[in-house]
Amino acid sequence: MTGAARLSLGLIGYPLGHSLSPRLHMAALQALGLPGEYCLYPLPPDENLAPALGELLARLRRGEIDGLNVTIPHKQAVLPLLDECTPAARAIGAVNTILRRDSRLVGDNTDAPGFLADLRRAFPALAEPGMALVLGAGGAARAVVYALASAGWHVYIGARRIEQAQALAAGLQTGAPAGSGLHALALDAAAVAGLPDVRLLVNATSAGMAPDSHGDPWPQGAALSARSAVYDLVYNPPETALMRRAAAAGLPAAGGLGMLVEQAALAFERWTGLAAPRSAMWQSVDEYIP
Ligand code: NAP
Repeated sequence: MTGAARLSLGLIGYPLGHSLSPRLHMAALQALGLPGEYCLYPLPPDENLAPALGELLARLRRGEIDGLNVTIPHKQAVLPLLDECTPAARAIGAVNTILRRDSRLVGDNTDAPGFLADLRRAFPALAEPGMALVLGAGGAARAVVYALASAGWHVYIGARRIEQAQALAAGLQTGAPAGSGLHALALDAAAVAGLPDVRLLVNATSAGMAPDSHGDPWPQGAALSARSAVYDLVYNPPETALMRRAAAAGLPAAGGLGMLVEQAALAFERWTGLAAPRSAMWQSVDEYIP
């Protein structure tokens, strides 16, 4: 990135009222002394979606916008409108970051590397891949399972509708090294009790997310694996019921705020070519969540 041109960044999704992305990216711009804006583009999924999406992407292609994030419910819908996708976005089947290379639009997914980066920050002892259990089989689980499998983890996917976990395990092209694999299981006490040595438990369900702050996806009556670290993608509240369960069992636990910051930092770096000011980005959201 050169010069002091005003950067125009933004987010496509719906609804966007509670998004923390403007805080994160404005903090990054301000910390680096870059003039710019991060605009919200709430696009309802109705008959006007296609022309509205098309217009925003045309503005990005013309250089009137410098970078776009994409969130629910449009992460899949933008895929066919782009010129190319990174291997991660293609495999996950979802784009959360769009950038311009020359006049081509490139779709990327920074949730997967953002998760891995924060996992390493939170649990440095987990340097070597092992056995992981991911709870949930929705959009976030796809990115997490892809990230773990690509890093050589053996991944069990537990979902209350086992067919959702089976579809994820069957459909994901991870490019994983030989020996790693994906397995589906029902999210109940008997199934999780039968698992071999789980080193990492990831909550990728929405259970525990405000306002359902007491929600806990872990099956009633089941014990946590004694050697497991627990990573909860939920970041509001900062300490979830599952994290309290882990602490009570003497296990290390981390919430999802670091992943949120990291996926934003990686998107910012893709757009600007500059190192993202992560501590300023952390601070902008840390203060905000009660
Ligand atoms: P999603 O596509 O709606 O998927 C949610 C998944 O959770 C589904 O598999 C759903 O199962 C399951 N689920 C919901 N409540 C459950 C419960 N009580 N017990 C067991 N399973 C339950 O949502 P998503 O986009 O994947 O997001 C999931 C969570 O991750 C959200 O809390 C989101 O805020 C968080 N997230 C965090 C980050 C981050 O940067 N930290 C990034 C992305 C997402 P059914 O289909 O059967 O309902």
